[in-house]
Amino acid sequence: MEFWLTARNGEVESVSFITDGCGYSLACGSMATTLAEGRRIEDAAVLRQQDILDALGGFPPESEHCALLAANTLKTAFEDYQKRVKGPRKESRREQAACDTCSDKDCSAAKRKNGESDQDFADRQALESRLCRIRRKIVVLSGKGGVGKSTIAVNIAVALQMVGKRVGLLDIDIHGPSIPTMLGLEGKTLQGGANGLLPVDLDELKVMSLGFLLPDPDQAVIWRGPLKMGAIKQFLKDVEWGDLDYLVIDSPPGTGDEPLSVCQLIGNLDGAVVVTTPQKVAAADVRKSITFCRQLGVPVLGVVENMSGFACPKCGEISAVFSTGGGKQISVDMGVPFLGSIPMDPAIVTACDSGRPFVRHAAASPMAKIMREIIRPILALEPAAASATIIERIENKEETNMKIAIPLADGKLSAHFGHCERFALIEVDPAEKKVLQREDLDAPPHEPGLLPKWLAERGANLIIAGGMGQRAQGLFVEHGIQVIVGAPAETPENLANSYLAGTLQAGDNVCDH
Ligand code: ADP
Repeated sequence: MEFWLTARNGEVESVSFITDGCGYSLACGSMATTLAEGRRIEDAAVLRQQDILDALGGFPPESEHCALLAANTLKTAFEDYQKRVKGPRKESRREQAACDTCSDKDCSAAKRKNGESDQDFADRQALESRLCRIRRKIVVLSGKGGVGKSTIAVNIAVALQMVGKRVGLLDIDIHGPSIPTMLGLEGKTLQGGANGLLPVDLDELKVMSLGFLLPDPDQAVIWRGPLKMGAIKQFLKDVEWGDLDYLVIDSPPGTGDEPLSVCQLIGNLDGAVVVTTPQKVAAADVRKSITFCRQLGVPVLGVVENMSGFACPKCGEISAVFSTGGGKQISVDMGVPFLGSIPMDPAIVTACDSGRPFVRHAAASPMAKIMREIIRPILALEPAAASATIIERIENKEETNMKIAIPLADGKLSAHFGHCERFALIEVDPAEKKVLQREDLDAPPHEPGLLPKWLAERGANLIIAGGMGQRAQGLFVEHGIQVIVGAPAETPENLANSYLAGTLQAGDNVCDH
């Protein structure tokens, strides 16, 4: 396979290619050219195998390597282009790590601004070279503290990861860094890499929080304005995020200096999610947050109304303890999308306190479903919106009859889904919350990557498993199969019934390989 490209003003103008490979290789090459054309060079140069597969909407696993070949060959073409345009140049170690795919002479990081000191210019270059490897930056804002902003930020990040995206989560709520607790990462410390601080890796979710730098979690952080700004800048500039699809930023509350610093430093935020509570007194704060975004040119992706009513832990019924609907009314008044209401639910507190994001560990609950709705506008930011298609596929199937696959050992769920000999395939009616029928199937011979395709062909749209690695979870999602991990060793009927009742509690991902 070979690619040729022309570029102008930092944008890919046209791409053509040849291949003497099979039809799949032709499809991948053709999709790679479509995805690259019209993009900024630095964006096109980091296209991945997965981007091509997503855009093609699914591919036989045995031909997925054609997408890898197309992505790698295209990357080589960009490297060649860079050499021709710029000629060999001695780069600093930091630039080699961060800007090795960028040949954009018009990039703002390449030019010194009027009056910019050497140090400021170097800092800005370092910051921009980090940020340009992150495709989408989303900030989560709230008018005041305690409304569930960090809870929403964590669950947005994990929900994005669950649909196969590469995600970073940055906690710059410097007065209350709660994200380490919410992800079970308390006590973790940061390691230095070749080019900066390494974020903490949690099943490939890259997490950075001031909490990792505090020796004592009870320590109060008392910093004056410029120091806070410096800390926020450092978190963006000195952290080795690498290539990410999304960076979700948990901002400090309010519309003061700290959220302002975040928005100004990042410069080109892709959107803000505003979190509020339903009471009228919160309304003024939300309006301020929306106006703040508008003044800074940050698109408002929508408003989430958190703690809206109370979800009974026994029957799941939601009662309106206080007034509700404030968030919805504001979104109508201010012309921004309303993303959903999340009730007050003791299960959410337990999930947060025990370091388990509920969108993964209570994936069957109505709350997790609302959370998946909230990421819909975020996924729609993607040019190909391939992930939105995945999510729609999963959720449309939830409305009609669906089939739940459960790996079996001795008649109960097996923790080792990849090595089990039988699967129960349970057909259920989600509207009536009824199990319709069960079929037991002999598993196919163990072969990496085969099970998702095999189960999808048999109509499965949900797998309830004990444990599963991140890569396997991504493969199921690509085949339109939602994954719940950490389920207990129960009979398939019990698991299906508790899934339908929204009470299936998932624990740890017990077999993460
Ligand atoms: P913020 O970031 O706005 O300060 P947090 O996300 O830290 O708020 O949430 C504050 C507390 O409220 C946490 O203990 C969290 O578990 C809890 N919480 C958040 N959302 C809900 C909810 N919908 N139901 C119950 N508790 C919640």
